[in-house]
Amino acid sequence: MGNEESSPVDESRPPQTLSERTVKALADYILSGKVSKIVVMTGAGISTSAGIPDFRSPETGLYANLARLNLPYAEAVFDIAYFRENPEPFYALAHELYPGKFRPTVTHSFIRLLYDKGLLLKLFTQNIDCLEREAGVPDDKIVEAHGSFARQSCIDCTRPYPREDIERHINAKEIPRCPVCKGLVKPEIVFFGEQLPAAFFENRTLPMQADLCIVLGTSLSVQPFASLPGMIRESTPRLLINKERVGGLGSGTDDVLLLEDCDSGVRKLAKACGWLEELEALWSKTAPKAAAEVAKASSGLPKTKDEALNDEIDKLTREVDDALNLSKRHEEKVRGEKTSGTSSSRSARKTSSPTSTDPGNLHESADGNLNHIFMPRTVTATLAPADSLHPVDEAKKDITASGGDDKQ
Ligand SMILES: [Zn+2]
Repeated sequence: MGNEESSPVDESRPPQTLSERTVKALADYILSGKVSKIVVMTGAGISTSAGIPDFRSPETGLYANLARLNLPYAEAVFDIAYFRENPEPFYALAHELYPGKFRPTVTHSFIRLLYDKGLLLKLFTQNIDCLEREAGVPDDKIVEAHGSFARQSCIDCTRPYPREDIERHINAKEIPRCPVCKGLVKPEIVFFGEQLPAAFFENRTLPMQADLCIVLGTSLSVQPFASLPGMIRESTPRLLINKERVGGLGSGTDDVLLLEDCDSGVRKLAKACGWLEELEALWSKTAPKAAAEVAKASSGLPKTKDEALNDEIDKLTREVDDALNLSKRHEEKVRGEKTSGTSSSRSARKTSSPTSTDPGNLHESADGNLNHIFMPRTVTATLAPADSLHPVDEAKKDITASGGDDKQ
């Protein structure tokens, strides 16, 4: 699926930067010495092979797994108001998802490889799982658009809380509290009712500087994240590795699509660049023990504990998915929203712009900001095509005005 309104580029139109729209040509471009600023944009699809289910997808959603927590409604687990009253369900989820339990995928290691080669300008991720960090991508190269488990703080006085302390509490299935004001401590994952991190807005125009954009494993259905690929200059190549075409990718003259799973796609690119052995070596370092277990599993031996756990999550998920209809009210809300905007780097190619950046989305205090995070894929297709992106300065103003950028 993708945005129906963005038609693929006319095959007869020549690329502006690449010699042709192929992985080989992209590799030649990367190796030409002209590329030094790659912007990578990622979503849940890069972590599914690590065993982390996609929250937003009704097919594989973690929400389903939360049914046993007796939530009043599935999204309550990420609702800040609910969390204040009843933090246990979130912490039960955190116990299952906490970093350290999952191994980065070869895709995460590929991003690390780009960094090692001095090519990574910035990684924008929608994932909260910290697997990019675990693969060795440094903090200052990562923008976690929806927050992550990387930091935690008191929800009342906003004082940062030590990592080792929260780990201890999560492992012990206890609720951590602020030593100063006794407020609840929460990982800085963006909840309903909370602003996106200031870092997202501070770095939002960075893609304009990129000389290559790589979009991996995201349906680009979530704003404002989905606006990022549209920030890329028109002549700058964009690579999409995803199971389906999304967000206008493929409509640009220098867009290359690999419609397949991320791990096989990045291996193809790495191979074309002559980096495959280096990539596999880097990935093998992420968990030598896990690598041995994978080898064991593929040789027909009994499943590892992690694999058994993943199977269990999958099973639970399937059982309850049908009963969940988490997106209805958000869908109605999104339909009612107007899209607007003025200029942007790709504004001349209207059909190629993803859905608009809507600052209205940035401060939906009634239901909270995670509406866009949990917006179902089906909603995107119903949005009107955006003329272009909204000016970033204005979006920044909105954020400043609503006081969302002072969170530590
Ligand atoms: Zn406090």
